[in-house]
This record gives sequence, structure tokens and C-alpha cells, in this order.
Amino acid sequence: MIDSELQVSIENDYAFLRDPVRRICEQFPGEYWRRLDAAAEYPTEFVQALTEHEYLGCLIPEEYGGSGLPLRAACVVLETIHSSGCNAAACHAQMYTMGTVLRHGSDEQKQQYLPKIASGELRLQAFGVTEPVTGSDTTQLRTTAVRDGDTYVVNGQKIWTSRALHSDLMILLARTTPADQVEKRSRGLSVFLVDLREARGNGLEIQPIDTMINHGTTQVFFDNLRIPVSSRIGEEGHGFRYILSGMNAERILLASEAIGDARYFIRRAVEYANEREVFGRPIGQNQGIQFPIARAHAETDAAEMIVRKAAALYDAGRECGAEANSAKLLASEAAWKAGDTCFQTFGGFAFATEYDIERKWRECRLFQTAPISTNLVLTYLAQHVLGLPRSY
Ligand SMILES: Cc1cc2nc3c(=O)[nH]c(=O)nc-3n(C[C@H](O)[C@H](O)[C@H](O)COP(=O)(O)OP(=O)(O)OC[C@H]3O[C@@H](n4cnc5c(N)ncnc54)[C@H](O)[C@@H]3O)c2cc1C
Repeated sequence: MIDSELQVSIENDYAFLRDPVRRICEQFPGEYWRRLDAAAEYPTEFVQALTEHEYLGCLIPEEYGGSGLPLRAACVVLETIHSSGCNAAACHAQMYTMGTVLRHGSDEQKQQYLPKIASGELRLQAFGVTEPVTGSDTTQLRTTAVRDGDTYVVNGQKIWTSRALHSDLMILLARTTPADQVEKRSRGLSVFLVDLREARGNGLEIQPIDTMINHGTTQVFFDNLRIPVSSRIGEEGHGFRYILSGMNAERILLASEAIGDARYFIRRAVEYANEREVFGRPIGQNQGIQFPIARAHAETDAAEMIVRKAAALYDAGRECGAEANSAKLLASEAAWKAGDTCFQTFGGFAFATEYDIERKWRECRLFQTAPISTNLVLTYLAQHVLGLPRSY
């Protein structure tokens, strides 16, 4: 529960971010995203514009060249991007992956990387956790990093490593102690900051995966890749804990994107329902059209409140696992329902790419699968919040 000292804004907070972010987004209309979508290309100009205006470094402390803003501010940036019809998936990882370096990296690593990430000189967009065989069962992952003098030798494979082809650095989770030699399966995993510029072609290969959305996602193969011991973040064997500590931030940020998508769908549905006349009157006059839109609005408002609560708890340094998971669950479902409602409102025109509804609809489906699938969120709430038996 939030105590009386913790403030949760219910207004349009961070107006100083919302307006300028919206203005940047106006320069990247639907036709920009449609063109990239068709060609499966990266939105370089969009990411550059966000970088130049320092939005991607907004969570990096000022001493390392960032804006030092709270998580809620980053939520507002991402929500605004999505409610404007754009997609932050090409660059949002920089906001939460750098947290692993910030919270658990050495002073030297922070000095070396954070200012360059803040300025855009270096991109830390890739996050290599998921593997093809073990999937959601992260602690069973099979990629190994074996110490050999001043280096680790990495072997294995990651899947769904998004943006790896557009990133200079990658956060990698690998097993450094065999699973049968640790007392808990979450032990013996370590985190590394891999320099992709040096690694590609020297034991690391990246293959794009064709997907139904333009997400730049890939498979990454490690074949005796040697990385320096100095690339390890924090202590050996504690990597799973370091990754977990960033996951709440990731869930809250992506929930904010889902809220933005829901707002986009609702706005577009209302506009169209007011304009489109069939049987001599606007379709929005029919309760069968307006009620689902009204319901989507109410459900989005409710989901947004839990997103705001989760961010407020996170920013206060309080435990927020329950709220971060609920936020991801409810926001992803609100976006999907709003998308479906918008789709139905547009009738056949929803299928025409030029309306952007089908693109946004495809894109927002991801929130129910990544960064964590809906069932796994429910297992967390059932076990850790409600005290039900562990189901997996
Ligand atoms: C476009 C895209 C981008 C991604 N980007 C990244 C990235 O950058 N980095 C990264 O590391 N990962 C990334 N992922 C991976 C994503 O986090 C996983 O796909 C997701 O966590 C689900 O894992 P899985 O696909 O292996 O599904 P599985 O683990 O195989 O699960 C399949 C289904 O079974 C359900 N299930 C499994 N176990 C249980 C259980 N015990 N109880 C109930 N239900 C269960 C799951 O909920 C899911 O619905 C991305 C995925 C996609 C599709």
C-alpha cells in the first residue's frame, strides 16, 4: 500500500516532457513507420532525434551526463511516443539496460560507459537473456562463460535479442558455474557487458529473425567468444539478482508504452466513429460502437493508475514487484482491448495499412508476451503476493 507520504500524480505530470516529445513525434508520421515496417528497417532518424534531445539518457544521473530524472519521467516519455503513433521499441532498452551498469557496475565501468551512452556515442540497446530451449525458465539457461586467465570464453545461443544489430554493447547473462554445482539454480549466473563491435566476427554472430512486427530482433550465437574479465558486471555468480533488479523498471516502462498505445487507439476510434457516416448517421451514435470505446477508456484509466503507483513506489526506492507486474498485465491487456475495439470501429479500413491501425495492433500484441508473458506475471502474483503454492 502507498503510505500518506508517497505522492502519486493523477494529472498530466511532466508537461515539460510531454509537449516537446509530442512535437518530435509529429516529425515521424504514420507514413515514416509504414515505410520502415515494409522494409524491416531501423528508425535511425527517430532514435537520433530522441538521443539529440537527451530523452534516452533521461534516467542516467547528471554526474554521468544524463538528466537524472525519475522513472516516472521516462514513463511519460515512452507513453507520449506511443500515444503519438510512434514506437519506442527501437530504443527503449537503453533506458533500463543501463540500470544494470549504474546499480551494479564498478566506478570504472560507469565512468567508461555511462557518459557515452548518455551522449548517444555508444548504444546499449541489446539485452541477451532469453534462450531458445529454456525460454521463460531463465535460470536454466545454457550459455556458458568459462574463466580462462584474464578472459571468459563464451559458448551458447540467445534468441529474441532485439536491436543487437543496432547496438554497440550488449548485456549478457551467462552461466559461470555449472547448475549442478550451485545450491540454488539462480546462483552461478553472471552478467557481462559485451562490446559487440569487437565481438562480431570473433566468436559472435548475429542473425535477424523475420517477425510480424518491425522490431529488429535477432538470434545471437557464441562460439568460443573471448571477453575480458573486466567486462563482468558485479560479482561472479550473482548476475541473476542484478538482472532481476532491473526487471521491475522494464515492466513499468513497457506498461507505459502500452498505455500510450491504448490512448492512441481510443483517440483514433473516437475520431473515426464521429466522422464515418453509415445509414445516414455517424457510426459513433450506435451504442455497439461507442460502448466498447468507452469501456476501453475506463480500463485504460484504471491500468494507468497502477502504472503510476508502481513508478511512484520504484522512485521512492520501495518494493514494487507486485505493482510492476500488475501494471504490465493490466496495461498490456488495456492496449490489446483498445486495439481490438479500434480495429472493429474502422471496419474494413482497419485492414488497409495506410490507416496505421493494423500496424499498431500488431505491435501492441507483443506486450502480452515480452518482456514477460502474461502467465508468468500471474504466477508471480499468485505465489509472491497471494501466497499460493509455486506452480512451476
Ligand atoms: C519481438 C520479441 C522481442 C523480444 N526481445 C527480447 C530481448 O531483447 N531480450 C530477451 O532476452 N528476450 C526478448 N524476448 C523474449 C521474451 O521475453 C520471451 O519470448 C518471453 O519471455 C516468453 O518466453 P518464450 O518465448 O521462450 O516462451 P515459453 O517460455 O516457451 O512459454 C510459452 C508459453 O507458455 C507459457 N508458460 C511457460 N511456462 C509456464 C508456466 N509454468 N505456467 C504457465 N504458463 C507457462 C508462457 O506464459 C507462454 O505463454 C523477446 C520476444 C519477442 C517475441
